[in-house]
Amino acid sequence: MISRRDFLKTSALAMGSLSMPSLVGCAGGSKEAAPATPTSKSFIGLQTYSVGQELGEDVPAGLAKLKSFGYTDLELAGYREGKQGGIDPAEYKKMCDDAGLKITSAHVGTPSQYKTPEEQFIEEWKKTVEDHVTMGAGWIIDPSMPQCATVDEVKQACERFNKAGEICKAAGIQFGYHNHNNEFNKIATPEEMEEGRKKVIEMIKTRFNMPNPTEEMVNNMLSRGGNAPGNYYEKLYMDFTDPELVMFELDCYWCMIGDQDPCEWIRDYKDRIKMLHIKDRWIIGDSGMMNWPNIFKTAYEAGIEKWFVELEGNGKGRTQMEGVEESAKFLLAAPYVKA
Ligand code: MG
Repeated sequence: MISRRDFLKTSALAMGSLSMPSLVGCAGGSKEAAPATPTSKSFIGLQTYSVGQELGEDVPAGLAKLKSFGYTDLELAGYREGKQGGIDPAEYKKMCDDAGLKITSAHVGTPSQYKTPEEQFIEEWKKTVEDHVTMGAGWIIDPSMPQCATVDEVKQACERFNKAGEICKAAGIQFGYHNHNNEFNKIATPEEMEEGRKKVIEMIKTRFNMPNPTEEMVNNMLSRGGNAPGNYYEKLYMDFTDPELVMFELDCYWCMIGDQDPCEWIRDYKDRIKMLHIKDRWIIGDSGMMNWPNIFKTAYEAGIEKWFVELEGNGKGRTQMEGVEESAKFLLAAPYVKA
């Protein structure tokens, strides 16, 4: 079996653009030591937002490092005005090709700004899609929640998602939506709100034996997850978008922060959720709050094969690169992640 150190050396030689000292520094361990964990798996994805700042300092060297950590696929962040992280898309793709990394997906936030006039949106979005075809991305994902105050506005936003999906589909790309935690708040129509209010008043009267509940008491009960009328935003996005045009990338961590079970969502919406964000409080596996064995098992059973590590900030005194390296190590060693 190839040792980690040899693997890194080989990668560096193939790359030609890296200084050896920095790579040796990454490899660690003694020269003769057998690798404690596998050095590669068929798919280890990374959302490049995780290393945005440090990758931007020297993109070819940064990409080579990511490859050496065991990442195989990227989901890009940072596309703006025709440039990927300030670099021409064709050039960026070449850098990734040279590093041996596949651009599988990309986050682009425009469709959530659904109040932009449609003609303007279509023109800008076509250019965005064209640039992502150039980079070879198979998916474009909107990572930002649209600002919707009513269910009707949610419908309008979903029409824009459908339009984005239609333009993507014509170019051979799949469009999708990525959640944070606020998607697991509920929103109700005026009728649903009225109905919910009646139910809560009835419940307070009967269950708590209080014949005259105050307005404050009713509003307090209505604001609690289980009693809140209406539907989760995430569910409405699924209901109001065309399954042929819009898929979903479930961020498992934000789903948990939204007081939800990611496995339940993956099972219930296995026809819509096609990719995951593997995110934890900081390094993957560090917090113990995410049930990764169960999440991966459920995802594979649902046919999900693509997922991307995502780290936020650079806590615990580690650099962004150290964070994604540690996370890759954890997943390379995880027996429940496909080899
Ligand atoms: Mg995410």
